Amino acid sequence: MSDAPETVISGGETRTGLVRRARKIDRVLAETYPDAHCELDFDDPFQLLVVTVLSAQTTDKRVNAVRPTLFAAYPDAKAMAAADRATLEGIVGPLGFFRAKTESLLKLSAALVEHHDGKVPPRLDDLVKLPGVGRKTANVVLGNAFGIPGITVDTHFGRLVRRFGWTELTDPVKVEHAIGELFPKKDWTMLSHHLIWHGRRRCHARNPACGACPVAKWCPAYGEGPTDPVAAAKLVRTEGRA
Ligand code: SF4
Repeated sequence: MSDAPETVISGGETRTGLVRRARKIDRVLAETYPDAHCELDFDDPFQLLVVTVLSAQTTDKRVNAVRPTLFAAYPDAKAMAAADRATLEGIVGPLGFFRAKTESLLKLSAALVEHHDGKVPPRLDDLVKLPGVGRKTANVVLGNAFGIPGITVDTHFGRLVRRFGWTELTDPVKVEHAIGELFPKKDWTMLSHHLIWHGRRRCHARNPACGACPVAKWCPAYGEGPTDPVAAAKLVRTEGRA
């Protein structure tokens, strides 16, 4: 073993220190949110792919509300690819951007039928080639519908890893790789849920509930929101996005 001191990477913290602190934070978040999971309802990979695409610019709750009608009308890619545009627009209407969302679903389901026999492919490289599907959506589908570990860098995940001082990067693909190196692959999907739940419930973009935060002790951004326990407790949400 080398006697050379380990390189200090930032704020006096070594790489080993960073890995330990990151995993400690994840363990505490896992205890805080034992039921953390994908907040979009789905029965199969096709449904998860579609509802994830639909969840852009709206809430999971709204998407969950249109899901039964949507999949009763179009249970698979073949049915959705053949959908009457106006009928589909009417169903996704409550989610906003209904024309663009309808167009996305029609193109996505047509591509599934054309290239994958109507099935959702369980590979990142194939998923990101589908129209309207980026790495974030692909990782949601891989992690939650196929059990293949994936890191979902959404707005919450990006904000939290920077507040935690796990990385200073902002590009989502770079963030995904940098954070992936701090954790065993098997933990990636649940890590994503823990951070997204914490971001939705306590570590808000504005006014994070620092005084009611279970990982405050290990967070360099402590103090970005109120540290008074009573004021902070009022900021804690018991549910995700309304
Ligand atoms: S201490 Fe504040 S900034 Fe840090 S994770 Fe907790 S709520 Fe977020």
